[in-house]
Amino acid sequence: MIRVIDVREEILLENRETAEAIRRRLRKAGAFLVNIMGSPGAGKTSLLLRLIPELGKTLKPAVIEGDVDSTIDAEAVSGAGAQAVQIRTGGFCHLDAAMVSRALDELDPEKFDLIFVENIGNLICPAEHDIGAFLNIVLLSVPEGQDKPWKYPGVFRKADGVVIGKIDYPDFAAFDLAALRERLEFLHPGVEVFPLSARTGEGITGLCEWIQDRRRRAGEPGRQIQ
Ligand code: MG
Ligand code: ZN
Repeated sequence: MIRVIDVREEILLENRETAEAIRRRLRKAGAFLVNIMGSPGAGKTSLLLRLIPELGKTLKPAVIEGDVDSTIDAEAVSGAGAQAVQIRTGGFCHLDAAMVSRALDELDPEKFDLIFVENIGNLICPAEHDIGAFLNIVLLSVPEGQDKPWKYPGVFRKADGVVIGKIDYPDFAAFDLAALRERLEFLHPGVEVFPLSARTGEGITGLCEWIQDRRRRAGEPGRQIQ
């Protein structure tokens, strides 16, 4: 008889416990963690380059950059005025809670109000790994096509907010936004949808207001983010 050791559930359970510890730590520090997920090239870094100066007017932001190999994005966001820490996974295709916990040790969350995580460009396994965020955002850009929430339901099920990026692309005219919204609402009732363009800046204000509002609500009685 062959003994089979099933490690998947065990690993995910351990990850969830670490993620809960991160949320406890960040509540005490008063830092709000936002996880940004999306395909490679969707425009996660470009979105951050818009969000940092806008939200940075009232909040102190930091960014944890996840990348398989390189520090290009971390250099870009630190140029925009956010302190950045790079997690270089060396091949792993997602971030997990332990990696984010390590990055938080480097940052010292007490110093920040808002910490963005740019997850690895991938629509599959980041969905399975809770990283201790208070808010999960998925970025779907117009050139990728609108079928992603049908092909990769898992990551959209986890999304509190979905950003439809690059709406300045001509293909946006062919998007059936009503059908897309219906699909997203089916996957996660109450999800917020933000069509925007990081290039022109259109729609950025609405997303910033929503992030600020969610941060304030996380700080209501019983919780400790202010
Ligand atoms: Mg990037
Ligand atoms: Zn992965």
